[in-house]
Amino acid sequence: MIQSRFNGRVGFAGGSPFNSEVRINGGVRALIIGLLAACTFTPLASAQAQTLVSPGPDTANLLLHAAYLFDGISMHEDGWIWVQGSHIKAVSYGHRPEGSGGSSSASTAGPIVLEFPGCTLMPGMIEGHSHLFLHPYNEVSWDDQVTKESRAERTARAVTHAYATLMAGFTTVRDLGTEGAMYDDVGLKHAIEKGVVPGPRMLCATRAIVATGTYGVKSESSDLDLPKGAAEADGVEGVIHEVRNQIGHGADVVKLYADYRWGPAGQTEPTFTVEELKAAVSVASSSGRMVVVHAGSKEGMLRAIAAGVTTIEHGQGGDDTVFRLMKEKNIAYCPTLSAVEAILSYKGWRKGLDPDPERIVQSKKSFKMALASGVTILMGGDVGVFAHGANAREMEDLVEYGMKPLAVLQSATSVNARVFRLDSLGVVRPGYLADIIVVQGDPSKDIHAVRQVRFVMKGGVVYRQPSL
Ligand SMILES: [Zn+2]
Repeated sequence: MIQSRFNGRVGFAGGSPFNSEVRINGGVRALIIGLLAACTFTPLASAQAQTLVSPGPDTANLLLHAAYLFDGISMHEDGWIWVQGSHIKAVSYGHRPEGSGGSSSASTAGPIVLEFPGCTLMPGMIEGHSHLFLHPYNEVSWDDQVTKESRAERTARAVTHAYATLMAGFTTVRDLGTEGAMYDDVGLKHAIEKGVVPGPRMLCATRAIVATGTYGVKSESSDLDLPKGAAEADGVEGVIHEVRNQIGHGADVVKLYADYRWGPAGQTEPTFTVEELKAAVSVASSSGRMVVVHAGSKEGMLRAIAAGVTTIEHGQGGDDTVFRLMKEKNIAYCPTLSAVEAILSYKGWRKGLDPDPERIVQSKKSFKMALASGVTILMGGDVGVFAHGANAREMEDLVEYGMKPLAVLQSATSVNARVFRLDSLGVVRPGYLADIIVVQGDPSKDIHAVRQVRFVMKGGVVYRQPSL
């Protein structure tokens, strides 16, 4: 399946970019065989192939050329990115970068050129709200995942989820809670960093923190002591202790639930007091970490805002006042539109066929208010509620609900990177980490293009390459 006329250049010219000739320097033949083979293997076989033969961070010397280049902020035409080692060495438009060689027949020492006609080069995308230890609830309910699946099964699933995420062009995730799988997100993160399994860079929240009695799993039998989907903590001292505990176990971010469905009729009501939330922010900030708050109700959001958190998730109960306050206090908003839609679809709603249920009407209304307020919008879908690898679904929903495609692309790259304090990611710029993907078409015109991922590089290592 691999053509072998190796003399200098990988070309994907012609009508179909994925079945044309491959000509590569003899000296890098083995390396490229590995790259090409990687796209057809199963996850673990692929990981082994990459470990053996793909350019590692010390060896990559690639020149990527595409019709368009989205640099994390704006779109450009005829873009070139020169990658050396794990970082971006140079970026240029309309011509090869200075010093990268001038002819298509590159010398042995020059960079390998990868051509992507009709495609867009862009930063590796950043998923703002994932749960790698969950899978869609229409496969297995959340309760059953937490109580009936073994930790080994959940980790095995998380490994495949991490792979699917990376292959979908998401080279970083902010993973917001293992939902009963303790600190296994930190273990997975380390396994990925060591090259044991392929996956995205991870910011981990570990167990997340809930007020006692508010969160599942729940049973009608008071005799059962069921596992919880998060760590329970109460009072200023109790919350401070749990924040420190989770940081000690490897949390990169601290997540709390400011409200949950624990009202008398199961409605969403606030859980932690402002004082408890403030204590969490104080301790997390002291350690240099951000606080992420789950809040669906207006009061839950107002308490989180008063406490000075970094980001608020969901927020379907937000209104003009709430979003204006968030903008004033520089608190970013992660609307997770796709999770709302996914959960309703599991209950029988057929998007596009049935009228919008009340929750969707409210979701669209609050999102319009958020957009009008100018609050920073993050791209994060609560993926895990729906399938890993389908992360782009949230980007499509953001556009459908009124955001401009270019703004959505910014959210998924430079905006998420800035809010998550990822200083070397989210932008294509010399000196930044070489997390680069290629998608077919121009996603600033048609956001669906972000599903057509042709190439994935993380830190100078190629994980996905067009099949030939
Ligand atoms: Zn979530």
